Amino acid sequence: MARKRDTQPLNPVTVHREFFGVPGVVTVMAVTISVVYIWYFSCNAEAGCQLPLTSARWSHIVSAAADYRAYLSLEAIIYYALWWSWLAMLYFVIPCPVIQGVELRNGRRLEYPINGLPSFFVTLGTALLVYAAKGSRPFLWIADHYFQLAVASVLFSTSQALFVYLYSFRRSSSQNDSGEPVMLALAGNSGNPLYDFFIGRELNPRIGSLDLKFFNELRPGIMGWVLLNVSFAMKQHARFGSISNSMWLAIVPQIWYCIDTLLFERKVLTTMDIMTDGFGWMLSFGDLTWVPAMYSLQARYLSCNPVHHSTFLAALIAAMSLGSFLIFRLSNSEKNAFRTNPSDPSLKHLEYITTEAGTKLLVSGWWGMARHINYTGDWFYGLAQCLATGFDTPMTYFFAVYFLVLLIHRNYRDECKCREKYKKDWVRYCERVPYMFIPHVI
Ligand code: NDP
Repeated sequence: MARKRDTQPLNPVTVHREFFGVPGVVTVMAVTISVVYIWYFSCNAEAGCQLPLTSARWSHIVSAAADYRAYLSLEAIIYYALWWSWLAMLYFVIPCPVIQGVELRNGRRLEYPINGLPSFFVTLGTALLVYAAKGSRPFLWIADHYFQLAVASVLFSTSQALFVYLYSFRRSSSQNDSGEPVMLALAGNSGNPLYDFFIGRELNPRIGSLDLKFFNELRPGIMGWVLLNVSFAMKQHARFGSISNSMWLAIVPQIWYCIDTLLFERKVLTTMDIMTDGFGWMLSFGDLTWVPAMYSLQARYLSCNPVHHSTFLAALIAAMSLGSFLIFRLSNSEKNAFRTNPSDPSLKHLEYITTEAGTKLLVSGWWGMARHINYTGDWFYGLAQCLATGFDTPMTYFFAVYFLVLLIHRNYRDECKCREKYKKDWVRYCERVPYMFIPHVI
């Protein structure tokens, strides 16, 4: 039952602007699109993948930018739209548990269908049928049109962000029939159109029961990343007659990471993205363009530079992948299990401190080693996939550098949040668990 929770206006005006306001968000948009663009034109079969970029390479990149029509492909735009629509259709038709999200400011909870993983397997089955009927040709087309598809995804994600921005001005929420106003994100209601378009004005834009933020978060982009990886592996096979051990070392852990994410789809409902961020350009572009285009870099590189590792090095990289994945998964699962049912007998060996905020903080097990040991596992897992590309170029290590910055920033935001929430209990907790990422180091 809906309850009005307080006397505050539902949608207060955003006063504090993140990213240094409008100049900052314009810079983020320009830089992120440029990174996709520069990494493509400076790291491909013809250009090689070398740094520093020479003036000749820069002038090639700039002249290619002027020739944008060569990369604006109607075919790619249509296929991209079909991909998105296919997954949206599966969102509606695959029977699944429907669960409630966290309580919103207006006292309501939205419902979400948890069918990401079955959607993935239906899509995988369909891809196998396509392969049986047409061989590798459609996949090679995807690998060959990577950049046209990336451009299509930029157009699509930007149009989607524009749509949700304009849609947020409708008079009442479509999520109930009580004429309640549309619920905006606390950070995305500054009144500046460009800033709000970037951050996301509406918290949970929905078309009927299609929750755009939840849908975009794990489906078209994450599954698109898998499809690109598979296509690049086929491309390598078509070019060189086999698939290198480095390709397997890069794509198998990535595909597994996507499956793991979909397996724990319901967890996304308690992330900052879903609970507090609006749905605007930042998430739309991040989900639809950034993840598939940049995270598939290792496979794209290896499709034209097949690195063959010695058995010893391959085993070392595989062990690093496995070890770091276990740290990531076991630490996250331990916290989830503890938070879901702290009295579970299998957790009785774990020590914790009680807090005035009411929730308990683990101080032993994985969470006794470091306050964000899960980030450490996640980062080393990504690093192992970069190592799979060998040592000929630093460009394929983009993900490790970017992800390090992302996790350090995320750690900072989370520490601020916890210090604010737990106050002196957080100080106590930090005394018990003094390290942030690596026990006895940092
Ligand atoms: P966490 O899963 O680490 O959650 C942090 C929260 O957990 C804190 O705010 C606090 O919430 C609670 N908490 C902190 N310490 C303890 C403790 N000792 N005992 C019990 N609860 C505690 O953060 P994220 O949601 O950022 O990350 C989840 C996973 O997703 C990570 O493994 C991360 O690496 C991964 N990730 C991957 C990304 C990618 O692009 N691949 C991007 C971002 C994240 P409370 O207020 O409830 O106490």
